[in-house]
Amino acid sequence: MNPRDPRINGQRLKSTIEELARIGGTPGGGMHRLSLSDADKKARDLFVQWLREIDLEISIDEMGNIFGEKPGEKADLPMVLSGSHLDTQPFGGRFDGILGVTGALEALRVLRESRIETRRTVAIVNWTDEEGTRFPPAMLGSGVWAGRFDRDWAYSRPDVQGKKFGEELERIGYRGQAPARKRPVHAYFEYHIEQGPVLEKIGKRIGVPKGILGITWYDVWVEGKANQAGPTPMDARNDALVAAAEMVLKVNELPAKMGGNMVTTVGEIYNAPNSRNIIPDRVRFTVDIRSWDDSLKKRAAEGCPARMEVIWDIPHTVFDLNLVQRVEKTARQLGYSDHSMVSGAGHDAAYVNQVAPTAMIFVPSMGGRSHVEVENTAWEDCEAGANVLLHCLLESANE
Ligand SMILES: [Zn+2]
Repeated sequence: MNPRDPRINGQRLKSTIEELARIGGTPGGGMHRLSLSDADKKARDLFVQWLREIDLEISIDEMGNIFGEKPGEKADLPMVLSGSHLDTQPFGGRFDGILGVTGALEALRVLRESRIETRRTVAIVNWTDEEGTRFPPAMLGSGVWAGRFDRDWAYSRPDVQGKKFGEELERIGYRGQAPARKRPVHAYFEYHIEQGPVLEKIGKRIGVPKGILGITWYDVWVEGKANQAGPTPMDARNDALVAAAEMVLKVNELPAKMGGNMVTTVGEIYNAPNSRNIIPDRVRFTVDIRSWDDSLKKRAAEGCPARMEVIWDIPHTVFDLNLVQRVEKTARQLGYSDHSMVSGAGHDAAYVNQVAPTAMIFVPSMGGRSHVEVENTAWEDCEAGANVLLHCLLESANE
């Protein structure tokens, strides 16, 4: 690649990420910016201001997804799109999602200051509620946009306090006018931290995922009989928490038992009445099952005796081969080492991939840690991945 070809301003990318990290930042150096919270509103306001500063055409849809477009010479051709999400996990990290939004923003800033025009429109997006922590399921914004979820169903989703997605979207002023409906997209690139240990371990800079594991989320309810902890003999109990504990161990044993590429997690548990001297009578816990093999994922849940509800189910994603090869080729042209892999984490790219050619770009996560406050990625790696994104966008936008 010609050394005079445009490059990302790594310093500016760093300060953009640091500025966003102050909105909902935690004392432990992480982020607590749940979807549609006051902090989310503040981050959105700043993001919209940045889009305005580079003269993008801004639109906000009914799901609060924010788009900024730099019109191409042939505005009627399907656009090239890139972005990710600005919401975070509770006590999550500074890079998850944010790197993909700020990387795309930086690419658009470079196009503008270098006066680079493209044949197709290049657009950036911030998807709403990617994490799904506050309003499950995950990827609600891109899911509605891609036609996988109904808009009004999404509006009705409650958080743990019973507040509805639609009301909270309205409250923070981001229920937009544009229909939350897919538009023709020529190519979608999502830039993201790996969130796993592989790239760091093998010493490679750019991860090139060929797809994303399928994910199923369950809620499991276990019922017992509440009673006084003292007078009730051990053989006369119906303890819901003990039953749930046995199930949690079974969930953990599933991957080893079933073989194949699968991971299972119980991450959330509610115990009632949650009192030290009452035998628990109601427990709800979550199960997260992921596999490249969708049938394995389905079989894992068969034969469970408790009441169980599927909260979310998305089959495994196979990205567009041409775009995946473009990411790999661009990384090599820029002189970065690369590695072909699969994403264990879910991304908006999974839904966009159902309606448009899609690929992702990964950079290493230090210590393989993510969804935690210590989540970190070297600034040089942030810059490298953004350069790959910039040149993938340019090539696709001139097709
Ligand atoms: Zn993410």
